[in-house]
Amino acid sequence: MNCGEFNRLIASVLNGQIDEEQIAPMEEHRVHCAACREELHRQAEVWSLLKSVSEVQPSPGFHEGFFAMLEQKMTERGYVIPDSEKAAYQKLRSGTRTEGG
Ligand SMILES: [Zn+2]
Repeated sequence: MNCGEFNRLIASVLNGQIDEEQIAPMEEHRVHCAACREELHRQAEVWSLLKSVSEVQPSPGFHEGFFAMLEQKMTERGYVIPDSEKAAYQKLRSGTRTEGG
């Protein structure tokens, strides 16, 4: 596995959509490559923020403020949402919820 492949798979890992057979090669690359280790850590932070939004039931004002803050943080860190995740992100941002509410 190279850095490009690793980076492509980070979103899948954070989504829990990684194939089991890809976990070992990723882990091996992560151990040897400091850059990818940091990248994974950085994106994990952003995704933990995203997840917290889908798990709580914030007030409308909180929701707006949260995404404003999140996008500012992403800009600061140079994080770009992968094309494959943009639809999911827009859904979250618009406040659409899958069940209940
Ligand atoms: Zn790497």
